[in-house]
Amino acid sequence: MKYISTRGHAANEQFCDILLGGLAPDGGLYLPEQYPQISASELSAWRHLSYPELAFAILSKFCSDILPGELAPLVSKTYAPQVFNNARAGQWIEDITPLTKLGREKNTTMSLLALSNGPTLAFKDMAMQLLGNLFEYVLKQRAQTLNILGATSGDTGSAAEYALRGKEGVNVFMLSPRGKMSAFQTAQMYSLQDENIINISIDGVFDDAQDIVKAVSNDHQFKAAHQIGTVNSINWARVVAQVVYYFKGYFAATSDNSQKVSFTVPSGNFGNVCAGHIARQMGLPIHKLVVATNENNVLDEFFKTGIYSVRTAKDTHHTSSPSMDISKASNFERFVFDLMGRDADKTRALFDQVAQQGYFDISGTPEFLNISANFGFVSGASSHKKRLQTIREVYREYRQIIDPHTADGVYVAFQHLDDNIPMVVLETAQAAKFNDVILAALGINALRPDAYIDIEKRPQRVIHLNNDAQAVKQLIQKHTA
Ligand SMILES: *Cc1c(COP(=O)(O)O)cnc(C)c1O
Repeated sequence: MKYISTRGHAANEQFCDILLGGLAPDGGLYLPEQYPQISASELSAWRHLSYPELAFAILSKFCSDILPGELAPLVSKTYAPQVFNNARAGQWIEDITPLTKLGREKNTTMSLLALSNGPTLAFKDMAMQLLGNLFEYVLKQRAQTLNILGATSGDTGSAAEYALRGKEGVNVFMLSPRGKMSAFQTAQMYSLQDENIINISIDGVFDDAQDIVKAVSNDHQFKAAHQIGTVNSINWARVVAQVVYYFKGYFAATSDNSQKVSFTVPSGNFGNVCAGHIARQMGLPIHKLVVATNENNVLDEFFKTGIYSVRTAKDTHHTSSPSMDISKASNFERFVFDLMGRDADKTRALFDQVAQQGYFDISGTPEFLNISANFGFVSGASSHKKRLQTIREVYREYRQIIDPHTADGVYVAFQHLDDNIPMVVLETAQAAKFNDVILAALGINALRPDAYIDIEKRPQRVIHLNNDAQAVKQLIQKHTA
């Protein structure tokens, strides 16, 4: 399997080459030269595989430069019940991503695919835990070390830290916006005492932290001298790891492969739903891919109008589903490349427009007009009021407490139900992570897994810095000297 860039650079990299890097040299994102096509017989054979077996079957198509005998143990130690077992109510989870029926509406079944039983109680663990093991494997092979520099609004950072804590050859420098994360998210990250995890809080919003990461990464000399790497959501390995649970969710929601399923995905950076798009391109019978956004509706606007208009930091709302508070969707270019018939020149021209004027407009083009016919995409946006209302409704009707991001998904999913096509909403976090919202909606607390009962009381390790790339560089320098 060779990888190409969405902007035309064709170095034909292999999986392990792009694993440790970020953007392609031409500023584009890596994608496989072609998506592997899953035959009917393969799909039938996959139906009864366990999660790690299925993950191995799918990933080995994309990581052809890792020997099967080496990939298999990496995958099975990642997708183990011991890692993904922070279940509510103490039940033991064997199948990693259990599907729970919510109920029947309009002649169809809506279910939740639980992706949040990993160590940080959010779906990012699904990919990040694999990434941690892949990093360790490749760094060891290449006798290399790596300093991960990242920015987080909460979930990505903690997922990266829990995936890389204690791993040989890797340090993590994670920037977070000071005072902008929930108490739980903050405690999750800052309570880690591992030497190789360095938390840095910045005065500003997420985008300020992100800009510092960009500034440091754009200093190519510094980047090379200090082996700076990233684990942000454009990392290809993260996207491809997420493809697996669309297959798993499809099998769990159907009894045979002639059926179709729709997925609703609470979205921010378009990483999660991009994996759904890839699963569909591989031949998984997906009917609709429903993109659900919060008040930061960049993506909903695009799928409704054909205008992709990024926001400034100032126009990015701080919402009660904070992990979806984005101003631009960093993985979106992967889909746009496919939408434009994999034409790198067209893709580059569109994203040059975004860089220059802040938006592109493809309304009225055949590509846009056929977007849902060809790719299944539709969308909707939620809001604080709808979020709380949905949490209340789901609790009242189905006796389940869902987190605010999942609530945005459920709210939007209701608008896109089709007769006899199961709707699977991706459950992206456990409610306990956002208990203040649950309290506001229901007046009761969400249940926490035992391991997290007193997390806010544990000692915290964090370094406060000004919104200043230079200060961050100095800190990295000191640590890696
Ligand atoms: C990251 C995150 C999202 C958004 O996922 P993207 O891949 O950025 O679209 C949604 N919900 C939760 C809980 C998250 O952590």
